[in-house]
Amino acid sequence: MHPLPSVVVIGAGFAGTTLVRTLEKRWPGGLRITLISDESYTTFNPMLPEAVGASVFPEQVVVPVREMLRAGHGCRFIMGSVTAVDTAQRTLRCHSLAGELTIAYDHLVLAFGNRAKLDMLPGMAEHALPLKTVGDAMHIRNSVLRRLARIELETDPALRRWLGHFIVIGGGFSGVEVAGELVDCLASIRRYYPQVQADELRITVLHGTERLLPELSPRLGQAALSSLTRRGVTVRLKTRAKALTARGVTLSTGEQIDGQTLICTIGTETNPLAALLGLPLLHGRIATHPDLSVQETPHVWALGDCAAVPNAHDGQLSPPTAQFAVRQAQHLADNLIALTRGRPARVFSHRSRGMMASIGHLKGVAEVGGVALTGWPAWLVWRAYYLSQMPSWGRRLRVFLEWTWGMFQPPDITHLRFTRSHEQRGGQLSQAVADEERAARPAQDWSAPGQRTGTRSRGSPPQPGRHLGDGMRDNLITILIKIVCDRGRRRCPTSSASCCCTTGTCCDT
Ligand SMILES: Cc1cc2nc3c(=O)[nH]c(=O)nc-3n(C[C@H](O)[C@H](O)[C@H](O)COP(=O)(O)OP(=O)(O)OC[C@H]3O[C@@H](n4cnc5c(N)ncnc54)[C@H](O)[C@@H]3O)c2cc1C
Repeated sequence: MHPLPSVVVIGAGFAGTTLVRTLEKRWPGGLRITLISDESYTTFNPMLPEAVGASVFPEQVVVPVREMLRAGHGCRFIMGSVTAVDTAQRTLRCHSLAGELTIAYDHLVLAFGNRAKLDMLPGMAEHALPLKTVGDAMHIRNSVLRRLARIELETDPALRRWLGHFIVIGGGFSGVEVAGELVDCLASIRRYYPQVQADELRITVLHGTERLLPELSPRLGQAALSSLTRRGVTVRLKTRAKALTARGVTLSTGEQIDGQTLICTIGTETNPLAALLGLPLLHGRIATHPDLSVQETPHVWALGDCAAVPNAHDGQLSPPTAQFAVRQAQHLADNLIALTRGRPARVFSHRSRGMMASIGHLKGVAEVGGVALTGWPAWLVWRAYYLSQMPSWGRRLRVFLEWTWGMFQPPDITHLRFTRSHEQRGGQLSQAVADEERAARPAQDWSAPGQRTGTRSRGSPPQPGRHLGDGMRDNLITILIKIVCDRGRRRCPTSSASCCCTTGTCCDT
């Protein structure tokens, strides 16, 4: 038997990493700690909207987990996905790079967060761009850059307007932040796309209730609304999306809003692991006692977004925010140390220190210690707070210098794709991008601007029921056409038309 009690933490987000770092700091060497997470980094989720707006690089919103841990203090990090827990035997199964591992624990801490809910509305899974991970942020950013690049090439005004309409669903923190970032980003990068006119780019925010940022005071919600509308964002309050389609959003009133890019910031769902473990749930989160121990399950604790933790300060459940995840982690560290030393665990109680949101370049709203701030002071406080959360002075300095440099530069418009050499053979890269764009194009007569229903667009046939394999089939046809052309033949292999050797398509001319 090992002399030190073993604590295993699942999830290296705000909650998990703060817990481990606090344990390392407050009782170095006092516990054997294992941190398991399916990513090798912690994502600073509140900064994801800035990554979308290209105000910061994606690598500035993630921190390697190993860098957050204090080397030599006994914490072991395993990159892996936990797939099962046996609470009777006090063991868990983890799928790691080295295969299946079985790990024993004395205390198990669940800090695995939640997921984006993709089936909240019909069509959401197929057409929405959620914002929950750094991959989501990069995907949205790349989509925005691709839309602008494509508008440059299209001639049909209605199609150009559809491509340039960015619809944000949800006017909470993420929605407001993403809209604010996007409007500043578009205004700043349009100089690189001379064929794109300012009035061809629009952002609409759809929000179900009567004011933005319901978590903040009405005054700050109003300040956010004014800031967005001043910059040209259309904000539609008391407006609910009913369904998402390839054309855009259908509202609960039946009205149709057309736009290709649908950014969805509403809806989260329980991490599947929580359901798999069969633990008691409350509103989709793991039900805990006020001291953060999981109900009916000895030696298991839960915190952060995945847990429903009662807050003794106000008798309410803690909100799923980074601030509460961090406070709960510090509290649990104290409780675990107390228990190991034979003292009782204490109930969690925390008074919110305030809330803040960045709503664009040098713009923010904040409520800190009862003081309301708007504009650049709020933005500065916001950035200073997240900088203070970085794990080391070296990283803080690096990120600070990059942020400062970025304040005086237009956003970076690199459309970064991780394409490997063998994927570039035979022109497949550009074809894959074109396929994706074409696949997303709904059936509509673009030659009749303003007309909402209609027949197929000129030169843009609809793509009913396209599948992943269709793109591959098109690529094969392209390669075939090129081979045929290379051999000097002019007859298209798939029809009686001629070959367009330069583009690798069949055409009638
Ligand atoms: C776009 C956006 C903006 C936000 N803005 C704010 C804000 O301004 N202010 C604020 O306070 N909060 C904000 N939040 C909420 C905040 O990010 C969360 O409350 C916080 O991240 C919760 O921390 P957590 O550690 O509980 O979960 P997470 O940070 O989600 O971490 C969970 C970890 O568990 C890992 N994991 C999941 N399943 C498994 C498994 N089976 N095995 C192993 N590991 C697993 C994940 O990889 C992840 O590392 C925002 C969130 C988003 C998405």
